[in-house]
Amino acid sequence: MRFLALAILLAIGCYFGYEAVEAPDNQLFGKTLVAGAPTEREVALTFDDGPNPPYTDRILDVLRAERVPATFFVVGRAAAAYPATLRRIAREGNALGNHTWDHSHMTLESPAAMGSELQRTDATIARITGIHTHLMRPPFGARDFAVIGEAQKLGYRVVMWSVPLPKDWEQPGDATIAKRVVDNVADGSIIVLHDGNEGILCARDHRPAHDCDRNQDVAATREIVDTLRARGFRFVTIPQLIADADRADEHAKRMAAR
Ligand SMILES: [Zn+2]
Repeated sequence: MRFLALAILLAIGCYFGYEAVEAPDNQLFGKTLVAGAPTEREVALTFDDGPNPPYTDRILDVLRAERVPATFFVVGRAAAAYPATLRRIAREGNALGNHTWDHSHMTLESPAAMGSELQRTDATIARITGIHTHLMRPPFGARDFAVIGEAQKLGYRVVMWSVPLPKDWEQPGDATIAKRVVDNVADGSIIVLHDGNEGILCARDHRPAHDCDRNQDVAATREIVDTLRARGFRFVTIPQLIADADRADEHAKRMAAR
């Protein structure tokens, strides 16, 4: 009986421990970026897990037509496989972030393995685009002291999100994805959509549509942009969101000092 009670307690402890590892807004393991300034009428669209042609390109078509910049957290192996798409992301004014080499669960890796995943991805992005990104997002949002510590040691800002994930990968329909996002947006929000699936090389390996099809994200992107624009939001990259938040902080400090 006592053993059973202990086992149940342990299971509950593990569950909440794990929740904390993946909860996007907890700061238990170190400081991460969850949102921008709550005083700025702006949001940051971010796309994870690509490049994944042709869907990434279709999303880029929407962004270009709408004149909206976004931030793409790319998986190293996919970046290496699709250099033309990666180059286009950067050329069209979008920001890049590091989403590891193969979308592994970083909390299960040694710091050395983590570091080499990030550096290999960085070297690939830099070779193709000439850009070294200082943004990283851990796959599954999973992080602990070691993950954040290693990322920061390498000069990265760890970027999470504030709008609950719309579960776009389950392909619930573009209207559902868009509604889940716009219903939860506030000033300074960070939105996550997916242009790929864990960096799987869909086109190259001829993977089935249920693994790789991101047409709903293409349509949802257009709907989200139109709806939020009508509500007066601007769209910014993560570096711009950070710069605006820093400026808002400075302003608040100056006002407080008066
Ligand atoms: Zn991911």
